[in-house]
Amino acid sequence: MMMAAASGSIRAVFAAEGRVDVASRPRPSLGADMVLVRPTMALLTPLEREVARGLGVATGGVRVLGSSCVGVIEDASRAGPHAPARGTRVAVQPVFSCGRCERCMGGLAMHCGMRTILGIDDAAGALSELIAVPAAACIALPKELDDERAVFAIALARALEAVRRGGVDKTTFASVLGDDLLAVLCTLVAVEENQLARLVATSEATLRIGEQFGIRHRALHETGRRGDQELVIDTTGSAETIAAAARMVRPRGHVVVAGISARAPVAVDLSQIALDEIELHGSGFGPVGGALERLTRRAIDPSPLISRRIGLADAAKALATLGEPGVFSVLVQVTR
Ligand SMILES: [Zn+2]
Repeated sequence: MMMAAASGSIRAVFAAEGRVDVASRPRPSLGADMVLVRPTMALLTPLEREVARGLGVATGGVRVLGSSCVGVIEDASRAGPHAPARGTRVAVQPVFSCGRCERCMGGLAMHCGMRTILGIDDAAGALSELIAVPAAACIALPKELDDERAVFAIALARALEAVRRGGVDKTTFASVLGDDLLAVLCTLVAVEENQLARLVATSEATLRIGEQFGIRHRALHETGRRGDQELVIDTTGSAETIAAAARMVRPRGHVVVAGISARAPVAVDLSQIALDEIELHGSGFGPVGGALERLTRRAIDPSPLISRRIGLADAAKALATLGEPGVFSVLVQVTR
């Protein structure tokens, strides 16, 4: 049994005004239909770095970081009979919706008007020794899927959504533009449909990981300026990368902006998008169930994308390394 849980105060990774620190917080209390989860592993990704830089900052600005975790249900006493029982290993789907509004009823729960996103909005994030989350957000993990792979489900779900938004089939000329975790995962998902899908990156380390996964890869400066791609997925979300994506795509082609950046709004020359009649799509969070299914049957093995393994106390320092070439994600052991 964990000592912190008994003492009433727990450790968590806080971001406030550009600073990231490990500090204590009160043990979270449970509302109706909520469960208490003890995260075992969380993943630091570029999304956490952007939140620390101010993405989605609410008034006050102090937040607990972490949008991806797996953990164990510690208390399900406030949830209904269909909630996962105490002791169940779960992944937490990070977009919490109301389940009752018009959007939720119409199949757009990810876009619920009352949603909060774990580790981004008001919901205290997963880099915490205990979190209170809606029971409906917990997905039980199969025995054969270990924590180290399951914790990639949230990032992989974003990749699935980005590829779905772009619409890849066997004949699509598709490129994924980026140097981060999401870029590699998007390419791996696109390759399931079309083996010619390629990763276009600027850093040597990203191109090497493309080599390691056996996917087509190309340095951005070596790509032609012909504008021949039918689909380009941009995983950075900066003015430069969106402009580069628009140059790579053919007239009437599709650009998916999947990069979520704290530095938005970005300035993009929209006249080229108008003249070339380019279709621009946004892409956010995706179906965690589909991601878990792929990870369980090992269709995608994310382990080469783990750059470091650390404990909660080192999370602040590790977050700063996420901008470095070849650092795709950092695995955090939150509790044992
Ligand atoms: Zn709703």
